[in-house]
Amino acid sequence: MSVPAGWEPVIGIEIHVQLATRTKMFCGCALSFGDPPNTHTCPVCLAHPGVLPVLNREAVRLAVITGLALGCAIAPRSEFHRKNYFYPDLSKAYQISQYDEPICIGGRVQVLTADGEFEVGITRAHLEEDAAKLVHAGADGRRAGAESSSVDFNRGGTPLLEIVTEPDLRTAADAGAFLRQLRSTLRGLGVSDCNMEEGSMRADANVSVRRAGTTGLGTKTELKNMNSFRFLERGIEAEIARQVEILEDGGEISQETLHFDPESGEIHSLRSKEEAHDYRYLPEPDLVDIVPDRAWVEELRAGLPEVPVDRRRRWMRDLDLNFEDAEVLAEPAELAGYFEQVAAASDAQSAANWVRGELRAQLRERGEEPWESLVTPTHLAELIGLIDDRTLSVPLAKEVLADVAASGAAPRAVIEEKGLGQISDEGELVTLVEKLIADNPGQAEQLRGGKDKLVGFFVGQAMKATGGRADPARVGELVRERSGLPPQ
Ligand SMILES: [Zn+2]
Repeated sequence: MSVPAGWEPVIGIEIHVQLATRTKMFCGCALSFGDPPNTHTCPVCLAHPGVLPVLNREAVRLAVITGLALGCAIAPRSEFHRKNYFYPDLSKAYQISQYDEPICIGGRVQVLTADGEFEVGITRAHLEEDAAKLVHAGADGRRAGAESSSVDFNRGGTPLLEIVTEPDLRTAADAGAFLRQLRSTLRGLGVSDCNMEEGSMRADANVSVRRAGTTGLGTKTELKNMNSFRFLERGIEAEIARQVEILEDGGEISQETLHFDPESGEIHSLRSKEEAHDYRYLPEPDLVDIVPDRAWVEELRAGLPEVPVDRRRRWMRDLDLNFEDAEVLAEPAELAGYFEQVAAASDAQSAANWVRGELRAQLRERGEEPWESLVTPTHLAELIGLIDDRTLSVPLAKEVLADVAASGAAPRAVIEEKGLGQISDEGELVTLVEKLIADNPGQAEQLRGGKDKLVGFFVGQAMKATGGRADPARVGELVRERSGLPPQ
């Protein structure tokens, strides 16, 4: 779906990411997903009176490395606020969050797509705690029409990082591309598993539209909690269409929070949008400010790993890989490392083709990942080399690969053992070449007339006839000799 003519959408995204710490944000309870309800709780995350929160240092570290990777400044001082509201999943009746002094400020991200790059500003990223989880009984687990609702406090107090972008996005597809790259970056940093289905990454989109060519901002709405990239893109598209229709009919957009139903494709209003003052933010008196040591921040900066998007850019530039190959191979890091070792010892494009294609296909059947398999990068590079020097045809190489995967033996050892290698018997090759010349009189005639290029034709025929087992160099020599051409 394209953008309606005459209109320009303005889109910003807010992403909540559960940080991959061992314990919760302000207590020692273990993080969990899928464990029996209310088995990871304590007086702090149940909000008993008189308890005091203690900040999780690892959550701060993960926030700082995320900020650095997104080009943000790390605030020399940031503080926590209480965001007051009542909801059954929030036993304190306030959420500890960061308000006007977030830990990460003002970053920029270059989003790499098949059609080039575009830039998205990062307004801020701040730390907060997750709410507990409401489990609705009946009505298919949805809140509307539920017979009863229970609260599972296992999730309550999970460390969250909320990342907010500038309204720099103009299409639903760009929003999807940004979010995909962000997920790959966060995973590459080890900050979160970003599993959208399990809710460890959740995205809200702020959407408004304006007349093309104007610069003011229209009234925005917020699409809540879309739990897949596809739904996010479809939800944004539906909301753009809804707003344009209202405005073209002379109506006005009201600022509200919306839900996109992926099944019906419809948008429903959840509530009118709150303003910051509705939350009565006040500084959290039980926590000290975060004042990161500058040397520590610089240490974290120096230790940032190469994230997948940087790897993709480097491969597209240095190895001449296309966007798709680079995207598929750049993560997880184990796969990227495996590919790089193969590419270093063979041709990069062949390495990409084999790792993406045949290797993964064969290993999938065995239930193995390349880096855990018996096929080492050295083995695969050797195999590619054996195709390049025409020791093996591609079908034979696939057969050899299956043996390597099963036994861990080197390709050359497999070839020797199974007798798949080159024909070493000179008499056999001579007979073969003479037969090929007799069978292809037209080409043989042109060859004798000096058309050198046809040597390759006969070599190809010989490889075909022997299932790749003829020595191409020796066949070439024999063909020249038998056709009266001078040796090369
Ligand atoms: Zn706890």
